[in-house]
Amino acid sequence: MIEETLVLIKPDAVRKKHIGDIIKIYETNDLEITAMRMLTMTKELAAKHYVEHLDCPYYSDLEGFMTSGPIVAMILKGEDAIKRVREINGKTNPKDAAEGTIRKLYAENGSRNAVHASDSPENAKREINIFFGE
Ligand code: ADP
Ligand code: MG
Repeated sequence: MIEETLVLIKPDAVRKKHIGDIIKIYETNDLEITAMRMLTMTKELAAKHYVEHLDCPYYSDLEGFMTSGPIVAMILKGEDAIKRVREINGKTNPKDAAEGTIRKLYAENGSRNAVHASDSPENAKREINIFFGE
C-alpha cells in the first residue's frame, strides 16, 4: 500500500551536514519527498511530537537535544513507507542498527540518533499534521 510517513532529520545530523546524505538514501530507496521544511523545534512542539515519551526518564535530555538547533521535517511517500523508512533508519541505538542503515552511518548514540520516523499509520497522520497541518 502507498503510504506517507513523517521524517525528521535531527539537530545532530544537520550540524554534521548530513542532510544531503540522508535524503539521498531515501530517494535511492524509491521514496518520494512530498513536503519539506527546516525549523527549530520549540519545547511546546517537542512535547506535542514526543507526547508518548513525556514521562520517560530521558525526556528532558530528549527535549534539550531536539530544541538545540535546526531540524529538517519531511513527508516521504512510497510503497509500505512507514515500515520501510524505519528499517532504512535502523534501530534506535546505532550499536544495534544494521550495517548501511542511516543510524549506523550517522548516529552518535541512542539519543542523538540522526533521524526520526513515524511508527504507525495513526502516528504518521498525527505527526504529519503537527509539522504540515496548515
Ligand atoms: P525511535 O526513535 O527509534 O522510535 P523511541 O520511540 O524509543 O525510538 O524513542 C524516541 C527517541 O527518544 C529516540 O529516537 C531517542 O532520540 C530518544 N531516546 C529513546 N530512548 C532513549 C534513552 N534510553 N536515552 C536517551 N534518549 C532516548
Ligand atoms: Mg518511536
